[in-house]
Amino acid sequence: MALDPLTMLTLTVALALAAALYLATEWQTVRESSLLYWSAGFALISVGSTLALLRVNGLLLIGIWFANGLLVTAHWLFLLGVARFTETRLSRAWYLIFVAWFALLLLPGEQPWSKVILLLNSFLVALLALKASLLLRPHAKSLGAGAAQLRYVLLGHSLFYFAKMIPALVPGTLIDLAVFGGRIIQISLVEGVMAIMLIALSITGTVRYRREKRIERLAARDPLTAMYNRRALEARAPRLLNEVSPARPGALLLIDIDNFKLVNDLHGHTAGDRLLVALGEMIRLVLPGGALAARLGGDEFVILLSDASHERIVGLGDVLRKQFHDTAARSFTTPEPVTLSIGVSLFDQPPASLAALIEQGDVALYESKGGGRNSIRLVDRTLANQGAPGSDPN
Ligand code: GH3
Ligand code: MG
Repeated sequence: MALDPLTMLTLTVALALAAALYLATEWQTVRESSLLYWSAGFALISVGSTLALLRVNGLLLIGIWFANGLLVTAHWLFLLGVARFTETRLSRAWYLIFVAWFALLLLPGEQPWSKVILLLNSFLVALLALKASLLLRPHAKSLGAGAAQLRYVLLGHSLFYFAKMIPALVPGTLIDLAVFGGRIIQISLVEGVMAIMLIALSITGTVRYRREKRIERLAARDPLTAMYNRRALEARAPRLLNEVSPARPGALLLIDIDNFKLVNDLHGHTAGDRLLVALGEMIRLVLPGGALAARLGGDEFVILLSDASHERIVGLGDVLRKQFHDTAARSFTTPEPVTLSIGVSLFDQPPASLAALIEQGDVALYESKGGGRNSIRLVDRTLANQGAPGSDPN
């Protein structure tokens, strides 16, 4: 099949322009700055391919040297986009690529000129695409399927351009850029059209995947303490609760700050916020492996753990109460002590729901508040303790 280079180039101009516009529009919603680099890269390919059409009118400097230079610049922008996306710093040596390209102007014209341009152009494009692919490698897992696709498309594109150097190195092969002479140029135009589509699509997939993950992460976290919120706890609790058995009892600790309003009223809302963040940090530090912690709202926090025992829970609660009391007393003077009340539900059968469990913890917490605060109340619902009244270890 004869592939008419002018038709292929026109197709390239249209596709690259469409990709540039598509990625710029995507940037308007996603606001991922690397999209702008990639969009600019495609725009340059579109301009470069338009200029390449001028070769047939004898404008060789613009149609060959300049047009191919834009193709290299476009790949450089793709690399910058990937570097920005993966938050990697690129060495300044990558700017030398332009020096190499300008050096081509010193070459004399005529036939070997075509081969040298093809050789250098292919090498630089291959190198830039390879580097971009390598930058994505460590992120392949965290960035999902789109990034893996982008990585392999860039790798394939790079290998193609390395292979494109071979005809230029083989003596006697016809390559005449002025008239698009040589089979490799026709094949390259087909590869170019495919690469534009594949790169643009996998870029969109990669950016969207990361955005979705970010939104998921944000939706699961309390913005003040960065702890899980109630929704995230509800989503993660069933796995832990289903593991509960008489051999591995579970426990839910419901924690509420005593007299927290005093901090807000006397020292300001920001001081109150700081105390909430400090409590979140304390909880994070004492949290046993595999346990879950969340801020339910206001000054109420929850810890959910398996493999619990009466002693372990009381020990954990005491450490938290003491640390919190010390921090609050050191940071704020208040007419009433700012401390922690903790209500615990200990169980050895998976509960009907997390909400039911929180309700049990709430009953114990209410008792702790009613009993003078700064204490732990534990409702033991394990078989070993069947029928025993709620205990007050304080
Ligand atoms: P108690 O000893 O009975 O627990 O009373 P309390 O003063 O701790 O107040 P309570 O637990 O009934 O109410 C919690 C207060 O926490 C109400 C609200 O003003 C305050 N609050 C809720 N969310 C925030 C927040 O994000 N930041 C700050 N600074 N305060 C909050
Ligand atoms: Mg409170």
